Amino acid sequence: MASPRPQTVQKKKETKDPYSANTRDKAQAAKDYIERKYSKLKKNEQARNEDWDELKKTMEDLNLSSNEQEMIKKKIMHREAELMRKRRQKVTVFDFEPIKIIGKGAFGEVRVVRHKASGEVYAMKKLNKTEMLYKNQVQHVKAERNVLATVENPWIVELKYSFQDEKNLYLVMEYLAGGDLMTLLIRKNILSEAEAKFYIAECILAIESIHNMNYIHRDIKPDNILIDNKGHIKISDFGLSKMAEITPNNEVLDKLEEDARHRQKIEQRSEFRRNRKLAYSTVGTPDYIAPEVFSRTGYSEIVDWWSIGVILYEMLVGYPPFYAEKPADICHKILSWQKYFVIPKDARLSPQATDLIRRLVCEAPIRLGGGGAIEIKSHPFFNGIDWKNLRNIVAPFMPQLSSDVDTSNFDQFEETEPFYPPQSKKRSRKDPHFVGYTFKRDDELQRNGIVTAMEELEEVKTILGKS
Ligand code: ADP
Ligand code: MG
Repeated sequence: MASPRPQTVQKKKETKDPYSANTRDKAQAAKDYIERKYSKLKKNEQARNEDWDELKKTMEDLNLSSNEQEMIKKKIMHREAELMRKRRQKVTVFDFEPIKIIGKGAFGEVRVVRHKASGEVYAMKKLNKTEMLYKNQVQHVKAERNVLATVENPWIVELKYSFQDEKNLYLVMEYLAGGDLMTLLIRKNILSEAEAKFYIAECILAIESIHNMNYIHRDIKPDNILIDNKGHIKISDFGLSKMAEITPNNEVLDKLEEDARHRQKIEQRSEFRRNRKLAYSTVGTPDYIAPEVFSRTGYSEIVDWWSIGVILYEMLVGYPPFYAEKPADICHKILSWQKYFVIPKDARLSPQATDLIRRLVCEAPIRLGGGGAIEIKSHPFFNGIDWKNLRNIVAPFMPQLSSDVDTSNFDQFEETEPFYPPQSKKRSRKDPHFVGYTFKRDDELQRNGIVTAMEELEEVKTILGKS
């Protein structure tokens, strides 16, 4: 669906003060959301009236008596009431069956689950409320839910439901069985330029669409780039873009140290990651963060293009450019990138690849992408790319999947706590921090009762040979 509002990416660039830039981001996002919702409601009402008119015509075509017409109308009303009831019904963790843990994040694990009623397989991300409050991440988690819920975008992981219980928030998303780009890089070690070209080109379209929605991702890195069952990418992990609000320097560093301890724990359990040490992390690596994010001077959406430059480097060279054991050292290298950034000769990068990386990993004011994604797309590295058709071509690596619950593209994790929380008898009190988190995207529930009835009548018509 085309969004009626103009793009306002421009605005972000003019702002010097990071706090007001952020407030503006949010205010704009809120405004857009309300506008979209309002225009949708109005359209719905119009469409509904038209539907009733059409239904009436269909019934008259069929020469239904007024009695029969009344009965059909009643049936529709009844069905709609039923749908409303379903829509209001609470989704809980008990509606799902756990299958396997596929990821550990900063606030809890990500699991493959099966929706008991429909049999559909999804990925469920659990976020511990206490930890989020403690780490001051409530805004970010809400942002994530908002981005995922309002958007219909082939480049963004689709949210199906979000809900909460006393302890946790839950995001139920489509399951992308191809794994994440980090796992792919670990398996392949390095990619050919042709392969890298495909993934980077898809990332560019994905990030462009995110910027067009007025969001800056801020945490673009290989483990937030997921691969679907056809080998194409989608971006995930919004709002947990940990640096979404600019934090004073030492707070960023503290957080990263904390993440490092956490990720070491995770890596001890992980087959793949053991070999490639700290550079390949599940959470919190600063490897891909643009230098201006660490400073207080403010930043714009082009921070995401820096990250793309770093990822391209890693794909072709085999390790990220600012690699160090300790996150604080990585930060230091990024801040003094002029001193530390080198493309090793023996990596034998083409002049086009070398040039593109250098034009992304550079000072913000001259970085490619400052004038829109088109600047990057027209770089010679991408010669021959069919930008319009990219998602339809055959991907370089096609996931081999044995079933809809195949998790072979993910690391192994131990179950640490039971999937189902103890069912408490008392009514849970609403936590004021997380009001409005719940969301359902159920296509069947969105269906209009009149349209359904009309389809049935059309069938009757055909049977009676009246159309
Ligand atoms: P965090 O914010 O803690 O980094 P993520 O949303 O990035 O959490 O999820 C952590 C990992 O779980 C990802 O790197 C990916 O491997 C896996 N994952 C997350 N969402 C999905 C999904 N929808 N389908 C498949 N895997 C997923
Ligand atoms: Mg992540």
